[in-house]
Amino acid sequence: MTLIMLLNSARSPKYDVRVGSTAECPPTQATDPQSGASKTCLVDRFGRFHDYLRISITDRCNFRCTYCMPEKGVKWKPRDEILTFEEIVQLVTFFAKKGVRKLRITGGEPTIRHGYIDLIRELRTNPAIEELALTTNGSRLSKDAPFLKEAGLSSINVSLDTLRADRFEAITRRSELELVLKGIEFSQAHDIPTKVNVVMMPGVNDDEIIDFVHFASSKCITVRFIEFMPFLNNNWSSCSVLSSSKIREIIGKEFQLQALDGYPSDVAREYSIPGSAGRIAFVSSVTESFCGGCSRLRLTADGELKSCLFLPPAVSLRDILRYNGTDDELEQAVATCLAGKWAGHPPMRDWAQRDHLTMVQIGG
Ligand code: SAM
Ligand code: SF4
Repeated sequence: MTLIMLLNSARSPKYDVRVGSTAECPPTQATDPQSGASKTCLVDRFGRFHDYLRISITDRCNFRCTYCMPEKGVKWKPRDEILTFEEIVQLVTFFAKKGVRKLRITGGEPTIRHGYIDLIRELRTNPAIEELALTTNGSRLSKDAPFLKEAGLSSINVSLDTLRADRFEAITRRSELELVLKGIEFSQAHDIPTKVNVVMMPGVNDDEIIDFVHFASSKCITVRFIEFMPFLNNNWSSCSVLSSSKIREIIGKEFQLQALDGYPSDVAREYSIPGSAGRIAFVSSVTESFCGGCSRLRLTADGELKSCLFLPPAVSLRDILRYNGTDDELEQAVATCLAGKWAGHPPMRDWAQRDHLTMVQIGG
């Protein structure tokens, strides 16, 4: 074992990894469906195969969403600690060899990193990568959509928590609603499959649930309601969560929701509404855990690998690259990270005291 591996393995998760249960949701397949390889470092001890890598390409953002980071922002990482595009490509090449098939580029706000479209174009050339998605606040899409399409991006999720200008400013601490709406329009106009992410919070924007259902219909788009999750300094409490079941109940009074397939391999439960081209989906991380089918790994902007949004980073892949480590060392590091993955996160009512990073630092 090298020095780097020793350092990495010493950073073992400080939470109880046995929490939760996979009993309710059967694990996804334990083999790489393409190569049939059953022994890959991407399978954890509960048999979950991790073929989905979410890559944060920056910890910086041009918005200051109240639920994501403090008004004054957070201390950005020095630029030399952030993975270069070459390092990201190198890591994706490694992960693709091990069985990763889907990538999501996120942040911070990924579209503010100079050259990010070139990175997407480059990652798209890897023949093993079947899907390459982007999560964005939408502020740059009206400018970037044609180039993203040309670069081969598969799909976009745009975060939009309100359709009202004054409220948009209160939530994001920026006044760019029109720009974001235009960005969604441009993304669709360039034939990029587009979804809208809405964090619904009681007393903040829950009077817009039906407005968003109409928005989904009129724009022929999928609106995904996401439960508010606890992170450092985001004033979360269990009272600030509006559960998916409550939202379903509210929508159900006016519309008929028809469940579509996809759960639990996909984290969102998706519904159609008869007579509407729009769809409604729910990401219920707080009240309806989907850990049993989890296939995700997360790479932070500075190259740390996380096996769960709610577990601390376990290993630095950046350090291995910068010490000219081998694929075997990367493989060992990934295995160390996945060895610390729990069956599922504990009930979130206990979580307010936990010392997580902010969401913007983790990468959503
Ligand atoms: N800046 C981009 C954006 O806003 O889409 C990408 C990064 S953001 C951290 C990724 C996703 O995380 C967004 O859809 C955002 O709404 C969501 N998010 C951030 N903080 C959250 C929280 N506390 N609870 C639930 N979702 C959150
Ligand atoms: Fe920025 Fe996205 Fe976080 Fe909002 S949710 S502060 S846009 S990273």
